[in-house]
Amino acid sequence: MNALQLKPGREKSIRRHHPWIFSGAIERVEGSPASGGSLEVRSANGEPLAVAAYSPQSQIRARVWSFVPGTRIDAAFFRARLAQAFALREQRGLSRHTNAERLVHGESDGMPGLVVDRYDDVLVAQFLSAGADRWREDILDALGELSGCVAIYERSDSEVRKLEGLEPRTGFARGNRRASRCPIMEYGLNFRVDVEQGQKTGFFLDQRANRQRVRALAQGRNVLDAFCYTGGFAIAALAGGAKHVLAVDSSAPALEVAKENLAANPTATGRVEFLQADVFAHQRLLRDRGEQYGLVVLDPPKFAPTAAQARNAARAYKDINLLAFKLLAPGGLLATFSCSGGVSAELFQSIVAGAALDAGVDARIVEHFGADADHPVALNFPEGDYLKGLLVYRV
Ligand code: SAH
Repeated sequence: MNALQLKPGREKSIRRHHPWIFSGAIERVEGSPASGGSLEVRSANGEPLAVAAYSPQSQIRARVWSFVPGTRIDAAFFRARLAQAFALREQRGLSRHTNAERLVHGESDGMPGLVVDRYDDVLVAQFLSAGADRWREDILDALGELSGCVAIYERSDSEVRKLEGLEPRTGFARGNRRASRCPIMEYGLNFRVDVEQGQKTGFFLDQRANRQRVRALAQGRNVLDAFCYTGGFAIAALAGGAKHVLAVDSSAPALEVAKENLAANPTATGRVEFLQADVFAHQRLLRDRGEQYGLVVLDPPKFAPTAAQARNAARAYKDINLLAFKLLAPGGLLATFSCSGGVSAELFQSIVAGAALDAGVDARIVEHFGADADHPVALNFPEGDYLKGLLVYRV
């Protein structure tokens, strides 16, 4: 059997059931595993520890499928894993409030490299590791069968595929339909999801509960939604009775969809302006004009995918949060987020604290935010806890 032997003393993280094996921990690879093929993981003295998928081109050289040595990795294995992931979602009961859910959340669902989102009757799948890609057909079959969705769109166009030596792949893997505007519903609000061209899989499902919080807090407030994408927070704020919303994003296609989303929600009344602009520059402009907001939402893209980029990312977070504090009226609320895996919750909080200090603002954290319930975090995989947010009250 193909096998991977670890260097002496390098089995600790595997024993704690962390699913990643870095190239530097490996003594040697035995046999001739193909890219994405299965191999047994052994300690330095030959003890079997796990079964993993081989990624010959990646620094993350192997990802564990199972910590039970000898587990057979085949179609039945994936069907069982996916059924577990689906059962977790059923148990969480989100489907009472929405028809759009993350069904598979990679490592945290025991499926390293696989992300699957459901938008009504269309699934969107991302195969992001050599292992997940190797089992693509079996996984697609099981997904179709377990979900009852006949259409599965593949968005394997993430940059991380390059690190695995995989070419991008997009398009319908199963079924076919017009998927540039999948209609979804979230707590009574309607959104259109561009599964084909939208960012990531088309919609930021992880922010669902936080959009609801913003909706509950928006009554009568003048709102700035910075990095608004297709208007998720802006429309939630309008539905919650915001007086006025300025929603800013640099992406023209995202703003197109945002306007359609507004039209799809007759309850989201009030005044709103969708503006194509760079948030960094536009916040400065608003500051210079002396604008003040009762609620600011800052939901920027991932500035630091890994800890190595944390320093530059910290500067960017500091900048936008400092400006947000300047734009916040006394008694105002700032909902500020980071989805950077490389920025810990602790670091993020200290950046926001520094921003308030430099803005000359006295402020209090009144709530902590995370990703919604369809984004579990496996206890052995703290990296899965990427989304952090704070609700800050300006005194
Ligand atoms: N809040 C959104 C998701 C935001 S994703 C929701 O709930 O759906 C981050 C967004 O930031 C993307 O739409 C991207 O187009 C935008 N973006 C990235 N850099 C930007 C910049 N410098 N200025 C304005 N928008 C930017």
